[in-house]
Amino acid sequence: MKKELISICEIEENFDLKKYNTYKLNSTCDYFAKPKNVEEFKKLIEYIIKNNIKYFILGNGSNIILPVHYDGVVIYTRGLNNYEIRENYVYAECGVMINALAIKVTDMGYAGLDFATGIPGTIGGSVYMNAGCFGSDVSNILISAEVFDGEKVIELSNEELKYGYRTSMLKEHKEYTILSCKLKIEKGNKEELKALVTERTNKRIASQDLSHPSAGSVFRNPEGTSAGKLIDDLGLKGYSVNDAMVSFKHANFIINNKDANQEDVVKLIEEIKSKVKDEYDIDLILEQEIIK
Ligand SMILES: Cc1cc2nc3c(=O)[nH]c(=O)nc-3n(C[C@H](O)[C@H](O)[C@H](O)COP(=O)(O)OP(=O)(O)OC[C@H]3O[C@@H](n4cnc5c(N)ncnc54)[C@H](O)[C@@H]3O)c2cc1C
Repeated sequence: MKKELISICEIEENFDLKKYNTYKLNSTCDYFAKPKNVEEFKKLIEYIIKNNIKYFILGNGSNIILPVHYDGVVIYTRGLNNYEIRENYVYAECGVMINALAIKVTDMGYAGLDFATGIPGTIGGSVYMNAGCFGSDVSNILISAEVFDGEKVIELSNEELKYGYRTSMLKEHKEYTILSCKLKIEKGNKEELKALVTERTNKRIASQDLSHPSAGSVFRNPEGTSAGKLIDDLGLKGYSVNDAMVSFKHANFIINNKDANQEDVVKLIEEIKSKVKDEYDIDLILEQEIIK
């Protein structure tokens, strides 16, 4: 298999993923593939699907809980980083960082992507989970996304992606890999946008734990309340399983104090869920994804 993969794109074997997930969890994989353009990406996926090889698409690793070892091919998308800014939309490949793109278009005086300035993920990961903040999300601006199913490229409309709160139909259709998307933008007031982004950045710095490795919010907010408040009210800040700990700054953040692995994070998640269920009879829903 290695020989075939190498003929398609750059491949590394027995790869250490600690630097490739924002939790900095200890994790390795059999193969790490780094396609540098859409053609290589499609060829690789076509080969992998045809040969029934286990694989996983990795963006910036900021919404996932990686296993100690992934026994398959991890396909890293950051090499697919072309974008074009047009008068009323942006075209971006899946490996473009959404926060960098948001800063770029906002600086140019376009509104639409401003909600995403602090989100440390790729376009692919953000389109997949409908990333959002400050009252907006990807579903508000997505015109269409190009996906690849191993044989053909399909253009999916916003409606077809069936967006909901931090979710899309792509979660149930793992056969679709996002290649690129088009996002709506519109001319706004440069100074006002600048002030808005500064205000939001300050809010993030004040409320989120940005000085420890994490993958952002662990749970979706239940109807009418916030997961962070429920966890905080139970006195769980600082509660830990080995090096995985509920952040003192933001109770809906789990941080890695040094050497946490998937087992530690998942055990902590289960304990939080069970305490919230016992106390409030609320089933917290995981926003992050556990990779097996
Ligand atoms: C400090 C911090 C703050 C955060 N703040 C926010 C926030 O305000 N709002 C928010 O919504 N999220 C937030 N997040 C979470 C995260 O940044 C977003 O969910 C982001 O969109 C994930 O993108 P990613 O590239 O890191 O995806 P990854 O974590 O790499 O992957 C997530 C999922 O997307 C899939 N995926 C990635 N690329 C593709 C592709 N090309 N095709 C198909 N599937 C793909 C992966 O297979 C995986 O299932 C935060 C995270 C951190 C660490």
